[in-house]
Amino acid sequence: MSKNSAMKIWRDGQLVNWDDANIHILSHVVHYGSSVFEGVRAYETPSGGAIFRAREHMRRLQDSCKIYRMPFPYSVDDMVQAMVDTVAANDMKECYIRPLVIRTGQSIGVGASDIPIETFVIPWRAGPYLGHDSSATGVHVRVSSWRRPAPDTIPTLAKAGGNYLVSQLAKMEAKVDDYAEGIMLDAFGYVSEGSGMNLFAVRDGALYTPPLNAGILQGITRDSVLVMAKDLKIEVREQVLMREFLYTADELFFCGTAVEVTPICSVDRLNVGDGKPGPVSLQIQKQYLGIARGKILDKHNWLTPIPEPAVAGR
Ligand code: PMP
Repeated sequence: MSKNSAMKIWRDGQLVNWDDANIHILSHVVHYGSSVFEGVRAYETPSGGAIFRAREHMRRLQDSCKIYRMPFPYSVDDMVQAMVDTVAANDMKECYIRPLVIRTGQSIGVGASDIPIETFVIPWRAGPYLGHDSSATGVHVRVSSWRRPAPDTIPTLAKAGGNYLVSQLAKMEAKVDDYAEGIMLDAFGYVSEGSGMNLFAVRDGALYTPPLNAGILQGITRDSVLVMAKDLKIEVREQVLMREFLYTADELFFCGTAVEVTPICSVDRLNVGDGKPGPVSLQIQKQYLGIARGKILDKHNWLTPIPEPAVAGR
């Protein structure tokens, strides 16, 4: 029994018990990595729980299915509702949500077109992703010896399980030497992203971030940073970045659903700026958490409220 045994998982329209959300060992996904998924967060706001950018995440899930020719039977609205129902059924306000589409069935061949698809929405109690206090103190990272996949190899715009094989290698390599993360370069040697997060640099007050053709996932937090920067009148340049730009930047930060906005203090043991979280990173972090937690006006409609569960006896 896991500590989550009391929780419910959404499985193709039914809320099933945690311990019943199983698949067969011959499922296609187990052998050939045929899964696409999302990572989404719900935050506690003064008016209850709310999911951050639910629609955008579900649209990306649909896109990932399309890229991998998985006939996904749900609309964006269906899946937003599935997430709301899952969080509400588990009486959670603040949590991580993992929607997942997998090819299951029982077959040993690679061919995927006739393999059935199953969809899950899994709630998870999430702590700080890069360790206690990482978003306040910042993290130390290295440039990974592992590269993001070249274009026309594995589609990086799809959020597919298989993409995370190289991420696992980069993460393990970093941890062995006591770094929190590895920053991968793309196939051409330009800066790409971390194992599960996008990257921004700050120099002379402007934000820099690698473009989509640098082998990155098109992060929804990255998009939120781009929008917030515009609102805050911070100049942004989406451009190819050389590795050495990481060393000369005034500030660096990661962004992603799991890491939220986490400052980076050093790269390859070279301090970023003065080695402390910088003012622009902290301003973006404050804005992001302010909107997500309902303390700053949600003018872009990024929050989907979760209704309170009905209280028995009232
Ligand atoms: N890059 C990778 C490889 C990721 O796994 C993630 C997390 N989904 C991100 C970037 C950030 O994306 P998002 O902001 O949509 O979570």
